[in-house]
Amino acid sequence: MSPVFDSRQFAEDTAQLAPQHGWRTHALNAVDGFPRPWFHLPAAEAQPLRLYISAGIHGDEPASSYAARELLRHTDQFVGIEVFLFPLLNPAGMARGSRENAHDIDLNRDYLNPVSAEVSGHLAVLRELPPCHAYLHLHEDWEAQGAYLYALRRDDIPNATDTLLAAMAEHLPIEQATLIDDFEAEGGVIARPYPLPPRDDWPEPYYFEDQHGAYHGYTLETPSSLELPQRIAAHLSAAHALANFLREHRAVFLR
Ligand SMILES: [Zn+2]
Repeated sequence: MSPVFDSRQFAEDTAQLAPQHGWRTHALNAVDGFPRPWFHLPAAEAQPLRLYISAGIHGDEPASSYAARELLRHTDQFVGIEVFLFPLLNPAGMARGSRENAHDIDLNRDYLNPVSAEVSGHLAVLRELPPCHAYLHLHEDWEAQGAYLYALRRDDIPNATDTLLAAMAEHLPIEQATLIDDFEAEGGVIARPYPLPPRDDWPEPYYFEDQHGAYHGYTLETPSSLELPQRIAAHLSAAHALANFLREHRAVFLR
């Protein structure tokens, strides 16, 4: 058993930490008595790169939220990048250690016609945000033996897959299975076709692809059977590596 995740304490801690490091604190709608802060890191540039990061949508994937909290401390990694960070989308699920929310809804299947208060409130905020140059969704997998990722990008967008894998590989083995959740995988990568095949139970990336067409995103998965500090470090390193990748390819992303 993993220790219980204190969602209220997490909200307090992050809201206290964020302004010390230059983040602006915002709030999604509270759900089942749990506050849901999110954070915006403005950039000084008139035309900044933009990065979106979400975590804690599945309540049994704590490394994702802990990593998001650590990201608040490391604003030096985001120079030149405007960041939108949602560290704990499912606090009720996290508090009880379940993938679903308190009403047994898998939030990451609820983005088409949302029935959950969590996703409805998230979408109300997302509709007001500008499109980002990259999207990162932090997850964990209790069946995996190593870290892996889903990559969704058009061929004319620089490919950060190897960069992200290398960053995670500093802390965790890479998953070697060739079939993960019914998707073909190779060397820890599930390359998703573009555009995505239609489905009715939209996970979060489907919303962004639908909204912005040129969606460029990665879903990172760490193996929850391995040690928590390494899983957190893998997410953290990958997020920082993606920020660096955006800067390296700044001219292409901002063209
Ligand atoms: Zn997940």
